[in-house]
Amino acid sequence: MSPTLSQKYLSTRGGSYGLSFEDVVLKGLASDGGLFIPEQIPTLPPNWESEWRDLSFEDLAFHIMSLYVSPEEIPPEDLKDIIKRSYSTFRHSERTPLVELDGKQNLYLLELFHGPTFAFKDVALQFLGNLFEYFLVRMNKGKEGKDRHHLTVVGATSGDTGSAAIYGLRGKKDASVFILFPKGRVSPIQQAQMTTVLDANVHNLTVEGSFDDCQDIVKSLFADPELNSTHNLAAVNSINWARILAQMTYYFYSYFSLTKSPNFSKDSKMRFVVPSGNFGDILAGWYAKRMGLPAERLVIATNENDILDRFFRSGGHYTKKPLNQTEPQGDGVRETHSPAMDILVSSNFERLLWSLAYETAGLKSAEENRKHACESVSNWLNQLKSQGGFSVPSAVLEGAKADFESERVSNDQTISNIRSIYTSCFPSNIGPGSAKSSKTGGYILDPHSAIGVAASLRSIQRNPSIAHISLSTAHPAKFAEAVDLALRNENGYDFNEVLPQEFIGLEQRESRMTSVPAGAGWQGVRELVKEEIDKEQL
Ligand SMILES: *Cc1c(COP(=O)(O)O)cnc(C)c1O
Repeated sequence: MSPTLSQKYLSTRGGSYGLSFEDVVLKGLASDGGLFIPEQIPTLPPNWESEWRDLSFEDLAFHIMSLYVSPEEIPPEDLKDIIKRSYSTFRHSERTPLVELDGKQNLYLLELFHGPTFAFKDVALQFLGNLFEYFLVRMNKGKEGKDRHHLTVVGATSGDTGSAAIYGLRGKKDASVFILFPKGRVSPIQQAQMTTVLDANVHNLTVEGSFDDCQDIVKSLFADPELNSTHNLAAVNSINWARILAQMTYYFYSYFSLTKSPNFSKDSKMRFVVPSGNFGDILAGWYAKRMGLPAERLVIATNENDILDRFFRSGGHYTKKPLNQTEPQGDGVRETHSPAMDILVSSNFERLLWSLAYETAGLKSAEENRKHACESVSNWLNQLKSQGGFSVPSAVLEGAKADFESERVSNDQTISNIRSIYTSCFPSNIGPGSAKSSKTGGYILDPHSAIGVAASLRSIQRNPSIAHISLSTAHPAKFAEAVDLALRNENGYDFNEVLPQEFIGLEQRESRMTSVPAGAGWQGVRELVKEEIDKEQL
């Protein structure tokens, strides 16, 4: 590793450090099972507030990312170009516009769904796809045939990640993408978004079983030394550091959008409220806050899969099952109206815990604090595996509470919130890409975003003087069933009106996918992956 890099990375479990950005992006997960984090969280330049205020989304992204990617690794002009290409696929000129949902209550909606697959994951995966391509082009310069480095991207999806990854990687040279999803368990639109992409390097594999079965297969593939050595596996799931990095931009961008409006100043207090599953989206907000973005708090909004909410309410117990629950609960994940948040554990929470353990260690040197944090995290995650949970010391819990609050929103509350926002919020400053009734002007939320808004409204009750930015993570047309359930009897509602042009006829288009035979196991999938790549290279 080059010692001259200004920003280096380490694994949360202590197995590796001094890594480059390229290392951590291509690897995804550390070989000790930990997640990669920056060795230092950078602070904002002293004049960021004035100098960044009027930047475009792309220029802002460039300034933020430059604090995490050393110029010796990716020359500034190249980084600019990667960013520019990543967001040119977005339909909205502002990329992530801020909508005034309820001016009286200072409630704003940050729309993150204007990318190619209509969910916030595009913000990260368009960037990640271009990064992979950039590194591959560089590695393969002057090489031909078998000498070329070929990347095999493998991921499991319950819906949004798969399509966003496919759109990020379609047609990229020297990269193949394999997405596993459970047969019949993703929404028809989500399935069509994935399977109608016919580029030769895109492979959809359907598995008999659940999302967890798909994830288990993917984990086994990554643990297989043979496949790793011959096929260079790479991960696109939300533990990839580049995804967290790309998501920081919109926290800053929306901060500027809000403080530019006449009712606000740079001293206005604000909270961000984030519908959360794997804790990737909100973690980007936490890094932004640690860098110096003046956010008063970050509010975690969970659905009924509420491990994060229980952590805060139980005094720092992070357990797969509620503490007082003794009965087995099947595989433990509840199916809700917000499937992209249906998780048992939140992988990215490990990154936050590391930083809190580091900050509260209080030992003699940074070196010792770091060692303490790695050991603590390793122990906790081992306990999670062996005993189903762990508890953190009170200093760590207090550290988390200084930055976060949490809210849990039930399935019924999700549906009733879609309905009440539709009948009470008629924002005027929205573009053609948002969903509203052309008859009443009522705003239509997707179920994930509705969880964020429901949590925002609770937080506003307690803190009426603080502005709230609620993150909207998907377009409602992706989750037709829940939206219909909420609105079918409402005045002026017509689902056809919600459908973006891009979705019309999508399910009838030519599609391609491969069924994994029942009982094939991960070894069967491994053979399929090899065969498909051989065919691609013919
Ligand atoms: C992935 C996703 C989430 C959850 O984001 P995390 O980073 O996993 O917390 C929320 N809403 C939608 C629509 C998503 O696709």
